Amino acid sequence: MTVLDGKETAKQIRKELAEKISAEKQRSGRVPGLAVILVGSDAASEIYVNSKAKACFEIGMKSVIEKKDVSLSQSELFALIEKYNHDETIHGILVQLPLPKGLNEQDVISAISPDKDVDGFHPVNTGKLVNGEDTLVPCTPAGIHELLLRYKIPTSGKHAVVVGRSNIVGKPIANILMQKKDGANCAVTVVHSAVKNIGDYTRNADILIAAIGKADFITGDMVKDGACVIDVGINRVEVAWLPKGYKVTGDVKYDEVSAKVSYITPVPGGVGPMTIAMLLSNTWKAFSKEIVS
Ligand code: NDP
Repeated sequence: MTVLDGKETAKQIRKELAEKISAEKQRSGRVPGLAVILVGSDAASEIYVNSKAKACFEIGMKSVIEKKDVSLSQSELFALIEKYNHDETIHGILVQLPLPKGLNEQDVISAISPDKDVDGFHPVNTGKLVNGEDTLVPCTPAGIHELLLRYKIPTSGKHAVVVGRSNIVGKPIANILMQKKDGANCAVTVVHSAVKNIGDYTRNADILIAAIGKADFITGDMVKDGACVIDVGINRVEVAWLPKGYKVTGDVKYDEVSAKVSYITPVPGGVGPMTIAMLLSNTWKAFSKEIVS
């Protein structure tokens, strides 16, 4: 059984990006830039935003954080996005989700230039992904695909089952896995909360993607021997005796499932670190499109 080490893989990706950025800086004096916009004071969002800025800094990328009060109106937010849409030193724009009540997420995402949409949520990029065109792909599914590629996991002709159909994980990873390309080319089944007896589907998966948001949902009896299991879930489970009072766990019951499968991602240290690495990678991609054109 191989543990798919997202932490180490993400470190390698960041190192590769740092080298490319350093070379480009020497060549042209230019570096990629990421603008992160945070509206309101959600504690978890603040941690995510700061860690994204730190990750940029560490690889020599420019980053700008715009922290705005919860009272920011939608038109003020549009004006801020528009400023960065036209800023030549900024190649990626990310609006941290969820947004406070009163701001329409889909309208806000659609205001970002598709060329700078490093979260890959803009309808133009969603459409291109469905069409199989090269585009900016949402970071978590892109990270899963990168893990499959880098660990050379056989995927072509295999049956992939995705549990969850959100726009940020389930749908895009299903779209990636059905494409005719490396690390994909699968037969794909997507299941969700309306589907009864989920185990009847998951037991047939060569590649199982769990993106549900329910701790320990996937148990040992729900997986096929030798499968590859990717656990996207991040769940806080109360553990009174721990100093923090909780632990972070995935959607997969790790001890039971890891005993049966060939590959598995741990939580933490699996898909999570890959998500930020792919955000950096998307920002590089948006920048490098510009330097070649
Ligand atoms: P959502 O809540 O948006 O989607 C969850 C999906 O799971 C839905 O499609 C839902 O079905 C389905 N689901 C819920 N309960 C069941 C059930 N009992 N049986 C079958 N399907 C069910 O979550 P996200 O996709 O945003 O995230 C999923 C998990 O991944 C979360 O734990 C989240 O924290 C984590 N995550 C981790 C990231 C990382 O970087 N590692 C990044 C993004 C998310 P329905 O559509 O019918 O409601």
